[in-house]
Amino acid sequence: MHDSYDVIVIGGGTAGVVAAVQAGRAGARTLLVEKNGILGGTLTVGGINAPAHFFAWGAQIIGGIGWELMCRTWTETGTPIPTADASRDTPCPRHLSMDKVIHAAICDAAVLEAGVELLFHAMPAAIEFADDAWTLTVCTKSGLQMTRAKVLIDATGDANVVALAGYPTVRPDIVQPATLQMRCAGYDPDALDYDALAQAAEAAVAAGTLKNTDIAWQGSNPAPFLWRWGSNANHLRAPGAETSEGKTAAEIEARQALLRMYRFCRQQPGLEGLYIASCCTEVGIRETVTIVGKSTVTAADYEAGRRYDDALCYAFYPIDEHLNDGAGINGRGLGRHVLPTVPRGALLPAGSRFLLAAGRCVSSDREANSALRVECPCMAMGQAAGALAALSARTGLDPEALPLADVYALLREHGAVVPGDVTLG
Ligand SMILES: Cc1cc2nc3c(=O)[nH]c(=O)nc-3n(C[C@H](O)[C@H](O)[C@H](O)COP(=O)(O)OP(=O)(O)OC[C@H]3O[C@@H](n4cnc5c(N)ncnc54)[C@H](O)[C@@H]3O)c2cc1C
Repeated sequence: MHDSYDVIVIGGGTAGVVAAVQAGRAGARTLLVEKNGILGGTLTVGGINAPAHFFAWGAQIIGGIGWELMCRTWTETGTPIPTADASRDTPCPRHLSMDKVIHAAICDAAVLEAGVELLFHAMPAAIEFADDAWTLTVCTKSGLQMTRAKVLIDATGDANVVALAGYPTVRPDIVQPATLQMRCAGYDPDALDYDALAQAAEAAVAAGTLKNTDIAWQGSNPAPFLWRWGSNANHLRAPGAETSEGKTAAEIEARQALLRMYRFCRQQPGLEGLYIASCCTEVGIRETVTIVGKSTVTAADYEAGRRYDDALCYAFYPIDEHLNDGAGINGRGLGRHVLPTVPRGALLPAGSRFLLAAGRCVSSDREANSALRVECPCMAMGQAAGALAALSARTGLDPEALPLADVYALLREHGAVVPGDVTLG
């Protein structure tokens, strides 16, 4: 680490990688600090390699660096690059997918090519703003180290930096459930008696050896779990996962749920040979906290497709609130040709200067957040935050005061789709 940077991005996940690459490519001396030893966050470590949605209503609405990283991954793996065609008439386009291991390696390369310094296995321990600069104390394997930055980007998903800097966050009483991504194998899904399995699961839930959320989103019926080879199936309660204590509890609960599911399944006819072929090392968290922004996206604005005066990017996904009691999803698709946007104010913690937050913790009410949290809007927010931070460091202007025309010009230079660029016909 050097003594000072223009921009420090904390969190090298879905939003943070794109933010760091954008800041680095725009000429900012940039450091990316990540607590794990791999980039990509929920996209890679959480096992959710299903970016949604670059396309809406037949148009590409999110592009730029996030899209470029996906295309590099698809090109590397020989996968055809998807087009907008299939999204033309549906509020629920097909989720894309990519190889998460290759993607993580592509992210490493892109970050380094952009001249960004990368520090794995490190977390901020203290943050202070004084004399127009941030002092960041980072906990590394060799102890505490201090550095400075003109602008900070919180891309932790959990608003850890915003909270450390002393700005408030919103923590709902109930949050969406978490999911431990795994892949089961060792059975033939076509040879199973699903009625008998549902009865056995109900009995196990009644006996307390299985929770109704261990293998299913809705009730205790294990059929979808088994059809999907266990993928993206359990729904675990994970309150307070923005803290080390809460995340620890979530990790333990996730693996205990896996163990309950494993023991239950292996007692059922046809599943005696079930085994865990792969499992993510970190539980996937859908919701923790949001920042209190200079503006906040509401579900009403989101569903109306409001074009904010300071809109930075588009977003497109149904309202998608997973319920944490095994009762399924509160979901609503967007109306035809509705194209929501994300305002600059939602990335700026109220009362702060030279501080941005991008990704899942964007200032938004719970229903709007259930849609904004998905991967492509997180990438688009990340790129916008990287551009704002680089311009802010260059000019000395707070991100809020930067002329939008300059921000848009930089974003377009790096391939981003800016609100107003898309015409639906
Ligand atoms: C089970 C599940 C299914 C989902 N399904 C989909 C889907 O199908 N399609 C879709 O598009 N989206 C889906 N999502 C949503 C989406 O994956 C996430 O909301 C999104 O990836 C979050 O991006 P982010 O950049 O905000 O956070 P993340 O990608 O989680 O990145 C945060 C990064 O910050 C790091 N970090 C955290 N705290 C610190 C700290 N204090 N110091 C340093 N580093 C830190 C983390 O290690 C991580 O690398 C799903 C989410 C879950 C959990």
